[in-house]
Amino acid sequence: MKCLSCGAILRPQDHQCRRCGRAVQRPGDAVARKMTLPPRVAVTCGTLLLAVAAVLFLYGAGAFAAVLLCLGAPLVLVGLLMG
Ligand SMILES: [Zn+2]
Repeated sequence: MKCLSCGAILRPQDHQCRRCGRAVQRPGDAVARKMTLPPRVAVTCGTLLLAVAAVLFLYGAGAFAAVLLCLGAPLVLVGLLMG
């Protein structure tokens, strides 16, 4: 991996270039930051989905309830694991 600014070779653990001081930008960083959902938001959304799923199930819409359950349960789990 090379510095985008001066072309110096960077070590994997470097946070900035040792030659020119430019901050190291790893390709995955921006994507990972965008993908990260605050745990509390994930738990809230997941809980809402589960609540709607329960209501749908009570009204006989089992298929829709199952879909919402599949979306909501992982959200809650991920949120709880991160938080
Ligand atoms: Zn550099």
